[in-house]
Amino acid sequence: MSKEKFEGVYVYIEQRKGVIQEASLQLLGEARKLAEKLKTEVSAFLIGYQLKKLVKEPIYYGADKVIYVDNKECANYNPEIYKTVLVQLVMKYKPEIFLIAGTKYGRELAPSIAADLETGITADCTAFDIDEKGNLLQIRPPFGGRVHAYIITPEKRPQMATARPNVFPLPERNVSRKGEIIKEETEVSKPSMALIKFEKGSEAEIPIEKAEVLISFGRGFNLEDAHLLEELCDFFLKSSISCSRPIVDAGLMPRSRQVGQTGKTVRPKLYLAIGISGAIQHLAGMKDSKFIAAINKDPNAEIFKFCDFGIIGDYKEVIPLLIEELKKKQAPS
Ligand SMILES: Cc1cc2nc3c(=O)[nH]c(=O)nc-3n(C[C@H](O)[C@H](O)[C@H](O)COP(=O)(O)OP(=O)(O)OC[C@H]3O[C@@H](n4cnc5c(N)ncnc54)[C@H](O)[C@@H]3O)c2cc1C
Repeated sequence: MSKEKFEGVYVYIEQRKGVIQEASLQLLGEARKLAEKLKTEVSAFLIGYQLKKLVKEPIYYGADKVIYVDNKECANYNPEIYKTVLVQLVMKYKPEIFLIAGTKYGRELAPSIAADLETGITADCTAFDIDEKGNLLQIRPPFGGRVHAYIITPEKRPQMATARPNVFPLPERNVSRKGEIIKEETEVSKPSMALIKFEKGSEAEIPIEKAEVLISFGRGFNLEDAHLLEELCDFFLKSSISCSRPIVDAGLMPRSRQVGQTGKTVRPKLYLAIGISGAIQHLAGMKDSKFIAAINKDPNAEIFKFCDFGIIGDYKEVIPLLIEELKKKQAPS
């Protein structure tokens, strides 16, 4: 698509089973900043079925306009259907900038939309800006996070990017904000793949990006002592276990539990790093946690430079003591 007549900053608001994904709402704050620089509006695309309860939410979080498609065929996420719908919306509304949260689904959808539109896309951005010519600066940290790449899409429109979840703060929800809501009808192609069934995952597993307390372990922790992690987790309501990359590379934990530059970005209220050295690529994913505590037997470990509270010692001795203290706090006095 060529450049002319493209206007506005658009965000795809991802909903799953009637729940809007926070990562896409986080993007509305960033979209607002870009729109102010470009003196334009922020709009949201929303797709699904029976969306009545959701359509105002993007406005509460900063959108000026919501364009939604409410269709039974869109009740469950299907990459082919969702792509076809979004491509039609983009062709009609012609966004200058189109941002998609880099969730599991967003990462799948975004490149296929860009390919259909024959425009460029930058994946996994951690910052955005506008250059002196009005182009979107798509900023991301390749090569181990030691440099930042500034990428532009000079000729084609829309300028598309996915953004890493939890990098941008969630804008404040303001129910007094007003905006325009437009219902769209689009063609919904018959997909070549069919969804057979959904199977519910374990209730016990809170995704690490949603946990308020993360008990995170690294190469210095022996999984024979896994019960210590579970016992620690049990003291906190919204807690989960995460890890550093070598644990995932060794096949001991799934990639969805990895924190860091090539894993997930997390911002829990408490991040407890056990046997983690504090490599730059790990810090990239957890440095914005509200309170960082670390247990490491090496007093010179990098992690101690970045934590609010550090304990120098062998976790085998420290964690049982910690558990004892937590039990005392729980016991009625
Ligand atoms: C392109 C690229 C991307 C990367 N992406 C990521 C990423 O997303 N996430 C990530 O985590 N890493 C990533 N890495 C790897 C990163 O560079 C580090 O190698 C990794 O984070 C180290 O993991 P670790 O801290 O668990 O292990 P180590 O660095 O080996 O640290 C183990 C720590 O445990 C301590 N220890 C040992 N025994 C005990 C004990 N008994 N009690 C207490 N402490 C103990 C040691 O003192 C040491 O500090 C990436 C690397 C590259 C090149």
